Amino acid sequence: MRASLIITAAGSSSRFRQSSNSAPSSKPQNSSKIFIELGGVPVLERTLRAFSQMKQVHETIVTVQAGTERAALAWAKKRGLKKMKFISGGKTRAESVFFALKKTSSRNEWVIVHDGARPFVRTDTIKQLCSQAAKHDGILLARQVVPTIKRISKSRDRVEATVDRTQLAEAETPQIVKRKLLLEAYRQVPNAFAFTDESSLVEAMGGKMGVMLHTDWNPKLTHYADYELAEAKMSSGAEFRIGKGYDIHRLVSGRKLWVGGVCIPFEKGSLGHSDGDALLHSITDAILGALGLGDIGDWFSDKNPKYKNIQSTKLLEQVLAAAHKKGWQPHQMDANLILEKPKLGLMKTKIRKSVARLLKLPLEKVSVKARTYEGLPPFGTSEAWAAETLIMMRNHPNPLG
Ligand code: MG
Repeated sequence: MRASLIITAAGSSSRFRQSSNSAPSSKPQNSSKIFIELGGVPVLERTLRAFSQMKQVHETIVTVQAGTERAALAWAKKRGLKKMKFISGGKTRAESVFFALKKTSSRNEWVIVHDGARPFVRTDTIKQLCSQAAKHDGILLARQVVPTIKRISKSRDRVEATVDRTQLAEAETPQIVKRKLLLEAYRQVPNAFAFTDESSLVEAMGGKMGVMLHTDWNPKLTHYADYELAEAKMSSGAEFRIGKGYDIHRLVSGRKLWVGGVCIPFEKGSLGHSDGDALLHSITDAILGALGLGDIGDWFSDKNPKYKNIQSTKLLEQVLAAAHKKGWQPHQMDANLILEKPKLGLMKTKIRKSVARLLKLPLEKVSVKARTYEGLPPFGTSEAWAAETLIMMRNHPNPLG
């Protein structure tokens, strides 16, 4: 089988957001649910990796929200996902698939369409589906309907009948169809963009669709509750570790005062080999501590000219990347600043937001508190300032599948 793979990921995620009170902020470039991490791996990456080793797939086209194509491509490159095109989706799912279909190579006889928000589909299931497609014009993955189904009145307050469920199945994806037939369906079937799956378009053309029933877990993450359930499943057995960090810097004139990656207007600044951001240093040290990876001095020697005046955000990013490689990411943190002057006031929120962004954490999992030192030296006399951090790191037992 030679197939083009179409992944639909252009939905607005509006149902997802409406149902979420506190969606995680770990979305790299837009608000789409497909970039949210699940067990430490973005939803879309999980989906794409299910197909990435399949010899049947000769090209991959992903439909994303208009205007996000380039950001999505950059994201894919960064995640090591190769050889895929990202194109703008349409107003409906069917329109998105049509846009992608037009870009597929005529050398591929088949098209596999799969929802980007179904990250748990198994590669062996897809292969099995592929092996059965040729008996029909296409085939889809589906599950037998288990609940008792009622047909109700138009007024929605009366039962009209109990539907015989023995011949009912719920359509899922992947759906595999003959490329030419699907193209033809889009040309001929009236109102094709309103159809909700590929199978129904083929059916409308009189084509014969096969079905493969299964009982695996293949939910579409539509509502926030779906994500929470999936995350709970992925995270069962997660490990947590705690790290503590502390840092102190002299305050001198002629230097800037960076706190948590935010430049604070003040007559004095932080003396240091780097930009002297004691808060970020304490966070970085806390992460290293939690993972038993030494301390910030082991990693970034103040003898090394490479780190002269370096932004501390870079140091933190490097340590976060090392943690991520080992399967760890921040889960929650709490920090104290010991700083007599200036009064941080509203800047505290700005600092907190900056740290949350750097750690890819939702705001409610990041706390930055400030306190003075009752005029006592060295903090109370503004000769120095300090920061201490407690951080909780978590790992994911299921990095991929
Ligand atoms: Mg320091």
